[in-house]
Amino acid sequence: MKKINLENVTLTNRSKKYFSPKNIKELKKIINYNPNATFLSGGTDLSLHVTKERKEINNIISLNSIKELKFIKEKNGNIQVGAGISLIKFEQYVKKYYPDFNSILKRYGSVQIRNVGTIAGNIATASPIGDTLPLLLSLDAKVVLQKNSKQTVLPLNKFFISYRKTKLKKGQFIHSIIIPIYKKNIFKAYKISKRIDDDISSVCASFNLEVINKKIKNIKIAYGGMAAIPKRAINCEKILINSNLSEENFNKAKKYLEKDFAPIDDMRASKNYRMEVAKNLLMKCFIEIKKHKLIRLN
Ligand SMILES: Cc1cc2nc3c(=O)[nH]c(=O)nc-3n(C[C@H](O)[C@H](O)[C@H](O)COP(=O)(O)OP(=O)(O)OC[C@H]3O[C@@H](n4cnc5c(N)ncnc54)[C@H](O)[C@@H]3O)c2cc1C
Repeated sequence: MKKINLENVTLTNRSKKYFSPKNIKELKKIINYNPNATFLSGGTDLSLHVTKERKEINNIISLNSIKELKFIKEKNGNIQVGAGISLIKFEQYVKKYYPDFNSILKRYGSVQIRNVGTIAGNIATASPIGDTLPLLLSLDAKVVLQKNSKQTVLPLNKFFISYRKTKLKKGQFIHSIIIPIYKKNIFKAYKISKRIDDDISSVCASFNLEVINKKIKNIKIAYGGMAAIPKRAINCEKILINSNLSEENFNKAKKYLEKDFAPIDDMRASKNYRMEVAKNLLMKCFIEIKKHKLIRLN
């Protein structure tokens, strides 16, 4: 087993191929020979193509054994997370920077899912209800994309094109994620789902504010479950930026969520519920800041 562990693995079964390279150099070679192969990280989303949709995946490139992608560090005022870091490792690391990010991750799937699932996988799915995505958007995170030896840094805000479509090109993979550390900001995130544990969000909201002398100097708001992609609430932000931290301003701003989003009905929630809850979460954020108190049931 030790010997196998040191080697790049290639398995073939008729026309199907599975690769598990040990380093990026080997990964680049495999991608060049197999440009249409599908990347596998934790497999918690990808495997549903087989188990739920009954589809076949021909060529798979597992990124799990690449040590160069398994890093997490603080550098130049940012957290940089390698694509190979599991959600559970990130959950522990992020707690001291953003406690609410940690709380949301605690309710992300189950421990088993978080032991293998990754942020990179969550980003690549571009799911409108991917839980890390509104949080990363409100923190103005960037993705480092790699194709051959070339790395490109793209703001996450520009990464999602439409429902489950991203800017990822053929043969390009997510190398890492860069998350700015806002030492003075207030960061809040809320997940609404039918169950506390192991449930997908109906709505997920995230707020990142810089407040100086009761004035909002900067604000970034993002929601999941409100559109075809996870998205910033730009119109709502515009009302709040440079305004006083007051109930009146938040009440005014919440109406602008109707300009930002046109949610849909589905089995998780109705469009009316989604809009109502999105507005209420904005008000909850205001009340928590105003009262210097967390209003959390769990
Ligand atoms: C029981 C269960 C509960 C879940 N609960 C939640 C939840 O609460 N919240 C939530 O948001 N999600 C949830 N999910 C969905 C899933 O766990 C997440 O989306 C997870 O982050 C996917 O990461 P992964 O590493 O497993 O990705 P994979 O399944 O390995 O890959 C997902 C997609 O990303 C691509 N990909 C993976 N890594 C890279 C990379 N480095 N570069 C480019 N493309 C890449 C793959 O090709 C694939 O298309 C749940 C899933 C299950 C099965």
